[in-house]
Amino acid sequence: MEVFEKWESEIRGYSRTYPTVFASASNARQVDEHGRSYVDFFAGAGVLNLGHNNPRMKRAMIAFLEADGVAHSLDMATTTKRDFIEKFVATVLVPRGMTMKLQFMGPTGSNAVEAALKLARKVTGRREVVAFSHGFHGMTLGSLALTGNEFFRAAAGVPLENVVRLPFETAPGGGIQALADYRALLADVSGGLAPPAAFVVETVQAEGGVNVASAPWLRAVQELARDVGALFVIDEIQVGCGRTGSYFSFDGMGLDPDVVCLAKGIGGYGTPLAMNLVRPEHDAHWLPGEHTGTFRGQGLSFVAGREALTYFEDDVLLTEVRAKGERMASALRALAQEAGEDRGFAVRGRGMIQGLDVGDGSLAKAVVAESFARGLLVGACGSGGRVLKLIPPLTIPDDDLAEGLEILREAVHESL
Ligand code: PMP
Repeated sequence: MEVFEKWESEIRGYSRTYPTVFASASNARQVDEHGRSYVDFFAGAGVLNLGHNNPRMKRAMIAFLEADGVAHSLDMATTTKRDFIEKFVATVLVPRGMTMKLQFMGPTGSNAVEAALKLARKVTGRREVVAFSHGFHGMTLGSLALTGNEFFRAAAGVPLENVVRLPFETAPGGGIQALADYRALLADVSGGLAPPAAFVVETVQAEGGVNVASAPWLRAVQELARDVGALFVIDEIQVGCGRTGSYFSFDGMGLDPDVVCLAKGIGGYGTPLAMNLVRPEHDAHWLPGEHTGTFRGQGLSFVAGREALTYFEDDVLLTEVRAKGERMASALRALAQEAGEDRGFAVRGRGMIQGLDVGDGSLAKAVVAESFARGLLVGACGSGGRVLKLIPPLTIPDDDLAEGLEILREAVHESL
């Protein structure tokens, strides 16, 4: 605890939510330096989709290190980079008939979003970008401008420009009128609006409160983007790579994005990797070397990321994700009914991202603290931090999942 207090006062260890020091981790469990084990419903904010210290990836990384693989290659070709690309194309793109080009963007999701914005501007010659209420896209200037939460945007110190913010579909059918109004204004020469370069959207807003968009609404956004000559960009950074029960969260929705942003889970092991999938006609707009970045060639990320893709060669993991997601949702629905009937608790989610909206940030905070005290790591998100967000590793064993859900149930009851 002494060390922890020192961190808080001097080093800023970001450990306010979970006041302990973690020492090791395996699949869906983290163990602190005192040997206390916690079920992990946080999974590095969606980075550790395949669990902590996943053995398949670990073995490949050890072999790579022992063979003196190229640890960092910037924009040079390496065997590990080639193996990753070939695996991604064969496992993800070919079965979907997607002809997207891969662009490596750097280590973080913000790098991918920022690059998407820059490319959209270059392709269209336009400046404005459409983003949606409650969206979260990153912390760098451009990606932050897209982010809805004023608390985060205030960190820039000045208003951020060039974003048209439309309402996200918070309830079925919601948000459609706003799209129609915006379309009409763009079509009206005296509407005073410049046409946008891109529409950037999450299919499930993760940080924004586990808000789930419907396929028809997403198709309406895509259609508007197409009609006004803007790029349709899907930010898959938190809910891609299997989280919702399909590899892409937009699979089967009839969507055909111009750019898909990937990060977090794509690196597999917590190894940093961010990349964009870009339609070939847009990809050609960047001359070689025009958009660069030092950390675009992390060897360990390619090795781990390649192994991570082996989980998606068949439907075994994704079938489990759908089943576990259903178990999570029904446990939360039961909890909402028994504990929150008069309080209007709401359950939202898809696959293994599920949210319990308890309607009140201080209650959610109390539940997070009580869960931690009982051995569960879970986070809160959404407006005022009032939504408990459950994103365990997709590989979580059934008994850990059951234990975590039971701890959460007890913690909610204890906190009321
Ligand atoms: N987009 C989404 C949907 C995210 O959830 C996040 C991170 N929470 C980002 C972008 C930014 O990623 P990073 O923090 O790696 O820059």
